[in-house]
Amino acid sequence: MRLFAAVLPPPERLDELGHVVDRLHHLPGAHGLRWTSRPGWHLTLAFMGEVDDGLLPELRVRLARAAHRTPPFPLRLHGGGHFGRRALWTGVAGGLDELRLLAERADAAARRAGVPMEEHRRYQAHLTLARARADAVDLHPFLDGLAGFEGTRWEVGELALVRSNLPVSGVRGEQPRYERVDGWPLEGAG
Ligand code: ATP
Ligand code: MG
Repeated sequence: MRLFAAVLPPPERLDELGHVVDRLHHLPGAHGLRWTSRPGWHLTLAFMGEVDDGLLPELRVRLARAAHRTPPFPLRLHGGGHFGRRALWTGVAGGLDELRLLAERADAAARRAGVPMEEHRRYQAHLTLARARADAVDLHPFLDGLAGFEGTRWEVGELALVRSNLPVSGVRGEQPRYERVDGWPLEGAG
């Protein structure tokens, strides 16, 4: 199955973001963007891709250990950013070092469990809001709309393992796009 490790912000924090994103929907160009579905909003820590079922037990043990070693930390959704002309996202602020550490540990956990992980680019924490269908969409109005956004902080207390169900072409999904399959509390034991 297709898997990634993530931080899932609590529903109230996603509601705050939702209010801002509601306003973005009215901006010119909004129809040229494919907006991500809100129940699936997440912060990817480590993308694993297709993982053999046989690796799952070891992967769970390793991720549990990564969570056990890492302390809970504060985070808030913050501002906006983009990857090229294609992806629009909101960023995070607060415990960025701790978030990066958790991302590195999740990546290492997957690697040691035998998941062939890509060489990672520099970790850029983000929550994807929309993807442009074509390069033609000017993202500036959306970035302006996100610039002042400061979410309320929360305490990140879990490392989640999430399954990604790729959309079957032509079929309007009955299954959720992203499913939390497991999660482990952050315990800061080392
Ligand atoms: P779609 O691929 O249909 O546009 P998606 O990218 O959200 O949707 P996945 O490709 O399953 O769905 O990715 C799941 C999560 O992992 C997303 O947050 C995605 O941005 C992230 N991700 C996917 N591929 C990589 C990668 N190679 N490196 C880092 N993160 C990735
Ligand atoms: Mg993808």
